[in-house]
Amino acid sequence: MNKETYALYKKYNLCPDCGNKSMKGNVFCFTCLSYRSEYDKERRDKGYIRPDRLDGRRKEYNHARYERLKALGMCPYCGQRKVTEGYSTCPVCRKKRTYYQRTRKVESRN
Ligand SMILES: [Zn+2]
Ligand SMILES: [Zn+2]
Repeated sequence: MNKETYALYKKYNLCPDCGNKSMKGNVFCFTCLSYRSEYDKERRDKGYIRPDRLDGRRKEYNHARYERLKALGMCPYCGQRKVTEGYSTCPVCRKKRTYYQRTRKVESRN
């Protein structure tokens, strides 16, 4: 589809993907919109990360740091305290994480 056709479809509120009537305030029709969001969701569920968010070097560095601290029995999150036995983090970071997860849950419920 070229730019002119796209503009024409948009002008007459038609979905440029299938030619159906588009959703109010949207370029695409309901079917194409839900297909698109489902497709995006599936990609997110599979752990797809947008390429512009990837930083290979940093990832490598973090991994090395994590392994090093783990081997020392230190918390990989803060790198300052020893981990609690049976856990992979120190009590302080565990508390922070639990708090963070709780507040996130509250947010998503609203
Ligand atoms: Zn459509
Ligand atoms: Zn910690």
